[in-house]
Order: sequence, then structure tokens, then C-alpha cells
Amino acid sequence: MSVRALAAMAAKNPVEPYSYEAAALSPTDVEIEISHCGICHSDLNVIANDWATSVYPLVPGHEIVGKIAKAGAESGFSLGQRVGVGWQRSACLTCALCLAGHENLCAKQQAICVGHPGGFADRIVTDGRFVFAIPDALGSAETAPLLCGGVTVFAPMRRYGVTAGSSVGVIGIGGLGHLALRFLRAMGCEVTAFSSTPQKREESQQLGAHQAASSTEVRDIRKHAGRFDLLLSTVPARLDWITFIQTLKPNGVLCLVGAPPGLLQLPAGPLLTGQKTIAGSDIGSRAMIREMLEFSTAHKIGAQIETAPMSDANLALDRLRKNDVRYRMVLTN
Ligand SMILES: [Zn+2]
Ligand SMILES: [Zn+2]
Repeated sequence: MSVRALAAMAAKNPVEPYSYEAAALSPTDVEIEISHCGICHSDLNVIANDWATSVYPLVPGHEIVGKIAKAGAESGFSLGQRVGVGWQRSACLTCALCLAGHENLCAKQQAICVGHPGGFADRIVTDGRFVFAIPDALGSAETAPLLCGGVTVFAPMRRYGVTAGSSVGVIGIGGLGHLALRFLRAMGCEVTAFSSTPQKREESQQLGAHQAASSTEVRDIRKHAGRFDLLLSTVPARLDWITFIQTLKPNGVLCLVGAPPGLLQLPAGPLLTGQKTIAGSDIGSRAMIREMLEFSTAHKIGAQIETAPMSDANLALDRLRKNDVRYRMVLTN
């Protein structure tokens, strides 16, 4: 079966039409006819080979929704069923981490669009064990970004025990951050949005924040000293982490889901005082993706999206490069 896709032929190239022959289905594989594919900041990173792991031709796209066109006998899916796929395409499923339900941390985990073609395509063949049924109540376009962006912010909320009444700050209001605001508001939290963009600070209150502050003005950040149980940073930018640490309550956690460039340089004192934690988080397990989809169904949560036809992928990628998307771009077939 020939797949019609869009691929970058070398680092930093635009994507261009590219066809490849899909592998034959194994018993656990499925073939998905793709209807929607969100564009995540990681797609820009893999196209540019920022992590030195990219393989070209590179078909980006890892927020995929579509319908089952073929189902391996052991896949558990049926023809026509609406499904989604996120960043992770496989793991060993036999190591201690996999057996404990942390397959996103497996040493053998593989990503959809690193060494394998992704979702900028009309279809994809992939391991059904990393494919998720989409609940009927959720729209395809609004749900595609949940599969990477959504679970990336949802998983640390669950890990760090966020509950009704928790005070949580979200740094960076983009594809990930706006979903974090929606989840936190639905969880009954007190929600603060930090953004460097004044317009996003205004919009953040419609997205679920109770208040908004600058992420770069130290005086503005300091007004929130001692406030947060959890601070979730979604930005790939250098910020004044020393000041942000001081906005945590005792036992508070600063969790990074975006990678700032360079080193995190911090004096130990503000961490020791109040026993604060700095942590990272990487997507989420399959169970967490299912829980996040259930939560999104119960609370009618989806991404705030703009859509573009798959043929306009380069324009859409450029809009994301310019930080000009409100709040997630989704390509449609
Ligand atoms: Zn992603
Ligand atoms: Zn494993």
C-alpha cells in the first residue's frame, strides 16, 4: 500500500510531497485513514534535527486522528472506528517500567515521527497497542492536540496530586499551556497564567485562568510569592527560575514540560527552604492518555484550534515558528 505523505528531505527543509510503501500489517498493527493531524512544537524540532535524532526523509506529525482502515487480528480495533495516536509509537512492554505502566519511560520507546513516518499523510500503519479509541462525544479536530499536548500537561497534574483547591501556575500559554488552563479549571483549581504576550494574558481568562501575570517581569512574578502547589512550565525559553521557585508553597513542585536552552542554574537555598522540587515530565503513559480522554469527555475539553488543509502544511509550520497560532494548528485531509 502506497502512502501519500509530506516529508522534509533534509534538516530545516520545507515539507514536500513524498510517497512510501507502508509495511505489511502485523497482528497487532492497524492502518489508520488520517482525517486530522495537529502540529506540535516538537514537529519543528524534529524537522530541524534539534535533537540530532532525525532521519530523512522525515514525515512529521504525531497528533493523529482518523478511522481504522485495516485492523490486525489481535489489534482489538474494528473497521471504521475513530482512533488517535500521539508521540509514542511503541515500547518493549516487557521491562520493569513497561510492566509498571510507565511505558513512556521505556528505554526502547520509539516516537512516531523519529525513524518512522508520521501523520502528515493520508494514512499510517502503526502498532495498535499505542492507538486510542476516541470517545464519540469528542470532535476529531479538537481532540488531535490532546494526544501529545494534552497528555503532556495532564500527566504531571495527576502525578503531583493536583485536586480541587490546588493553586497551580501555568507558564507559557500556547498549544500546551492553554490545554493546561482548561484541565486545571475543570479540576477546580485556582489557576494563574504566566505569559510574555499581553494579548495572551487577556485571553487566558477565557481559557480558564483566574488571573494572569507576565512571565518575564520579575515584579509581576513576585506578586505571587508562596502561592503555588504546582508550577507547570511549557516554554522552551530561559526564564527567571529563581523568582519562579519563590512562588511555590512549601513542598511545591516546578515541573518542566518544555526544555529551556542551556543550563538551569539555581542556588540551592530556595529549594532547601520549603523543600521544593524541580522536575521534568515526558508525555504520559497509555493509561494516562485514556484517563485524559475520559476527563476531556466528562468536562467537554478540547483544544482551541485553527485548521488548515494538509496541502498548506508549510504555511501552518511557519505560523507556528512565528508563535502566531491560537492555540493549536490542526491539518485536515
Ligand atoms: Zn508533541
Ligand atoms: Zn519497556
